Amino acid sequence: MAVSHLPSEYSVTIDSAHGRFGSSGRASVGTVKITVLSGGVGGARFLRGLRHHLRETLPDGAGGTTAEVTAVVNTGDDMWLSSLRVAPDLDSIMYTLAGSNDEVRGWGRTGETERVSVELNAYGVGWPWFTLGDLDLGTHIARTHFLRSGLALSEATARITDRWNLGVTLLPVTDDEVETQVVTDEGTMHFQEWWTRHRASVTARRFEQRNVDIASPAPGVLEAIASADVILVAPSNPVVSIGTILGIPGVRNALVAASAPIVGVSPIISGAVVRGMADACLTTIGVQTSAEAVALHYGGRSSGGLLDAWLVDDSDADAVAALAPAGVAALAVPLWMRDPETSARLAAAALAAVRY
Ligand code: GDP
Ligand code: CA
Repeated sequence: MAVSHLPSEYSVTIDSAHGRFGSSGRASVGTVKITVLSGGVGGARFLRGLRHHLRETLPDGAGGTTAEVTAVVNTGDDMWLSSLRVAPDLDSIMYTLAGSNDEVRGWGRTGETERVSVELNAYGVGWPWFTLGDLDLGTHIARTHFLRSGLALSEATARITDRWNLGVTLLPVTDDEVETQVVTDEGTMHFQEWWTRHRASVTARRFEQRNVDIASPAPGVLEAIASADVILVAPSNPVVSIGTILGIPGVRNALVAASAPIVGVSPIISGAVVRGMADACLTTIGVQTSAEAVALHYGGRSSGGLLDAWLVDDSDADAVAALAPAGVAALAVPLWMRDPETSARLAAAALAAVRY
């Protein structure tokens, strides 16, 4: 089923490098299944845009879409704090899709207060530099309640997201605890400490995912990859968001083997991050902060990597020709997600890149 209402500026199409859509470049009939690999804020904005686009182009007549969107979400930022399980990327996506995220601050809930955190600080409980809002704490208490009742994180996530009518299924990439540790000259610390407390000012020597070697993909993750009609890599942190997802045993192989084309969106525009610390993360793993270098890091599918197509910003149009030898069909389009409409156009461009 093809999306036929793409804005004209996004009507450029590229054949899937795998040619699996046949001569028409289109998938077989049935519900369109889209699987998105996602981190927190960049992924959340992209998913909101994708949902917006699909509601317009594949409407279900009841305000939603007939397409099935599954987000496979990074859990490397998760942590136990004050005995509560906190899952920042899952929650960023949930609040953004629910329309209850704080757009000004960029994270957390709207109308938030922080009275409980003040009390916890007074007791010396938790991290004084990491404030959890009162409404947000409700989410963490609910999640911890479900986990303590014996549910896996994926089941707890289903219970928590059920409340919100998100229109997107959120799957943590794994039910196992694979927290990202940052190895620095000042010691090894949780990713949240490196970023929130130190603002990435302490040089990261390397990133390690605790227990990743014994982790498994959460139920539904490999199926969502294998059964997708198209797979999108959101403009998320390539190291500590997408890199963590790819690090779960079995996930990368499932992507390489997937029959769907894989389209990625650059989180880097004009050699800089839009927000966050992906530049510091990329430097740590020896990858330049550029749209081109991130694409080469993911690799072209024809040479054993992930990408069939890659979207770069108009300002990075030079990367289009530079990536051709690597077998990555790059397209230059506006990559700034300023609001749901610009995000929707970006999602449309990602689908159009493989004639979807
Ligand atoms: P986090 O988990 O909250 O850090 O969020 P993600 O991993 O999903 O995304 C972080 C990345 O999103 C950063 O590298 C940003 O550069 C990128 N990003 C944020 N806003 C935009 C945007 O409007 N356009 C693009 N292309 N990337 C963005
Ligand atoms: Ca994150």
